[in-house]
Amino acid sequence: MPTPVDRKLRAVQLAKDCRDLGARARTIHHVTGLPKPELKRLLFPDSKSLPRGRAPNSPEWYHGANLLYRAESSIFASVYRRLRKSGFSAGQTLVSGYRHYRSVCDCLSRISFDRAFDLASHTDGIWVAKDSVFTIATCSVCGCEFLAAQGSAPSSSDDCPFCQLVKRYSCDQRVQTSFPPRSLDNPFDVQLSVMAIVCPGHQHPHGANGETRPQ
Ligand SMILES: [Zn+2]
Repeated sequence: MPTPVDRKLRAVQLAKDCRDLGARARTIHHVTGLPKPELKRLLFPDSKSLPRGRAPNSPEWYHGANLLYRAESSIFASVYRRLRKSGFSAGQTLVSGYRHYRSVCDCLSRISFDRAFDLASHTDGIWVAKDSVFTIATCSVCGCEFLAAQGSAPSSSDDCPFCQLVKRYSCDQRVQTSFPPRSLDNPFDVQLSVMAIVCPGHQHPHGANGETRPQ
């Protein structure tokens, strides 16, 4: 049975992990429950180092974001959900899921920790969100998991950012940079690479999935 001291130490360690991944004090406060003044004193002694700017608000942002942001959001959300189902706490899952996301999307990692926190909030209906507004759908065409509006029933590959990425592959250099296949002249290889990243159990034929499972 953890003592109050154990719980406090765990919360502080979790707060430090969030800070090291780029979280702002508001995010850390929601994840750990620690008061903002204490967080600022412990983790941001230099006020100039405080992350600034508007906090992400994902429900509207996601549906208007470009394909690469939607694909990377879906990769994070997919990993997050799998870890949550394994019984980890929401805070531990957020940190582990975000680290894993960065390990597989290390080209640019378009999704910030604060964005990941906001996506997780609005998927589970926790922290800053009262209700769940996102669900994770499975594409009937490519098998990839992707974020969709709660209550919607995505029925075609038009809703799947990965299918859309594959369709665009031949003419969009940003896609090639983000999901580099082994064979640059084979669009199907891109789809397999994308699936290897987001679909558990899917093995890329060239072994690209070797390190993509959550630890
Ligand atoms: Zn698809």
